[in-house]
Amino acid sequence: MRPHPLPAKHRSAAMRPGGEEIRVRGLVQGVGFRPTVWRLAHDCGLVGDVRNDSDGVLIHAWGDVWTLERFITRLYAECPPLARIDAIERHALAALADAADFRIVASVAGHAQTGVVPDAVMCASCAAEIADSSARRYRYPFTNCTYCGPRLSIVRAIPYDRANTTMAGFALCDACRDEYDDPADRRFHAQPVACPVCGPRAWLEAADGIRIDDAGDPCRVLSQYLQDGAIAAIKGIGGFQLACDACNDAAVERLRKLKRRERKPFALIARDMDTIHRYCTTGEAERALLQSAAGPIVILDAGGAERVAAAVAPGVGTLGFMLPSTPLHQLLVESFDGPLVLTSGNTSDEPQCIDNADARARLGRIAEVFLMHDRDVARRVDDSVARVVLGRPRLLRRSRGYAPAPLVLPAGFTDAQPVLAMGGELKNTFCLLRNGQAIVSHHIGDLEDALTYADYRRSAADYLRLFEHEPQTIAVDLHPEYLSRKIGYDLAQASRRSGAAPSCAHRRVHGRERDRARCGARDRRCARRTRFRRGRYVVGRRIHADGLSRIRPVGCAQSGGDARRCTGYFRTVAQHVCASDGGVRLEWLCDALCRAGFAGVPGESAERRTGFDDRGARQ
Ligand SMILES: [Zn+2]
Ligand SMILES: [Zn+2]
Repeated sequence: MRPHPLPAKHRSAAMRPGGEEIRVRGLVQGVGFRPTVWRLAHDCGLVGDVRNDSDGVLIHAWGDVWTLERFITRLYAECPPLARIDAIERHALAALADAADFRIVASVAGHAQTGVVPDAVMCASCAAEIADSSARRYRYPFTNCTYCGPRLSIVRAIPYDRANTTMAGFALCDACRDEYDDPADRRFHAQPVACPVCGPRAWLEAADGIRIDDAGDPCRVLSQYLQDGAIAAIKGIGGFQLACDACNDAAVERLRKLKRRERKPFALIARDMDTIHRYCTTGEAERALLQSAAGPIVILDAGGAERVAAAVAPGVGTLGFMLPSTPLHQLLVESFDGPLVLTSGNTSDEPQCIDNADARARLGRIAEVFLMHDRDVARRVDDSVARVVLGRPRLLRRSRGYAPAPLVLPAGFTDAQPVLAMGGELKNTFCLLRNGQAIVSHHIGDLEDALTYADYRRSAADYLRLFEHEPQTIAVDLHPEYLSRKIGYDLAQASRRSGAAPSCAHRRVHGRERDRARCGARDRRCARRTRFRRGRYVVGRRIHADGLSRIRPVGCAQSGGDARRCTGYFRTVAQHVCASDGGVRLEWLCDALCRAGFAGVPGESAERRTGFDDRGARQ
């Protein structure tokens, strides 16, 4: 028997019943947190209640001190997989318990931070369910529960209730309703809950839109099509994807040609880790990333015994692999021996299709067969991309599985006024900042593409509405030609007309003196206030004029025009050139850069050229 943690002489005080108000902050709404509290409270023998409110989850619990301590310890240890506890605050309650048991009570009305959480990969319980031939969700591609399934990709408005998601049109059957209403069930208040009787359906159709009615199980039949060398369009959780057999040279080359993607590597999906190990080597951190609830594409060294088609990742020694993230993907790949190419359903740099009709129109000339379903995708969410660098996971693209989970900012940001940061031109994401948290959007892409630009405008408005965010400051890049900057100014103008008056302040990303010179007098004052610095990421004086992170200053001279909009690439290369300090032959690099309109001098002191010292301060 486990020894009691308190000495005998203190036990009587510890056993005395008392009450506590327990405030839980973090990602605790819409993730099965209240049922977990309910289950643990019942296990521990506590009485009281739990509810959602505007600050997270609020618990009133009565029991002896030892039991309350054990309850809190278990709350941390058994936190639901999609939840994140940022803080627990406890206060003693003078009142006696007014309930004989522990209950989940209705949410408190008001401005609730309703916790729009990221989409999560299928959990182990749901995976077992779709593989169980006696279960009612056997091979059902839309199986989910409070621990897994779609979230950001289906929510249309807050609060996060079924009526505000793309599941609104699917009325719950009696069996699903019972699960939804039972606090002891893992589907208690799981908004996307569904089954073959009441939920979305999948089907196959040919490129001409004709339904392939005699297909039987669509995932199984599609797997056979892919085995035979077909290219398929698959409606995934956050939009359409294109797939083909990754070991079929002809199919991969055809996909590359039709998608108009010359060399950028294709992502791969495999049914399990054993299959991945046939093609790649992995470390512990990489395996953890692949099997995490976010389930990103992970860049791995292609050091396995077998090889995929050369056109999958020409000229690089790595492969980007992911494991199945949804039941639909699991059912598709489980009968497929090798890896499949699984890339976004688009042409070149356009945004991924999310709508059935749009997919038929835009992907009809690429895919020979379509795996469709009738659950709408509320917003496009690309697969995330990660890589382990020096033993630590690094996100190269933060999207499905990560966005829009808020990042907790350091102390000092709590009282900062709400900010909307518009982001850059290439690989854009935007960011909402308030209450000491930063909500970074899902990956948007390169704004110079007209469809991506339209998607960016739509997504920015969508996030402002979804998170009820009213920015007092709109942060834009200094570059005068960045489309994100232009939209930021438009939003500021529109807000002024509507009575609000967000100031349009500049935040340093990678601007230059000449950019500052292009700004008007008001903008120059603004730039001065934000302590304009070269090569340093800063948040301006309105919040804290302090560097968050920085890169070594590198001076460069570029020609005008569109070349200047690619400074992200140039600056990265410039960092490498200067880091070489003349010790490495990089003439070819300089030639290439000069041809592209860039002139840098490897080995020259950054300080001398830029006029800024190594700390970013003006000399
Ligand atoms: Zn699940
Ligand atoms: Zn049902």
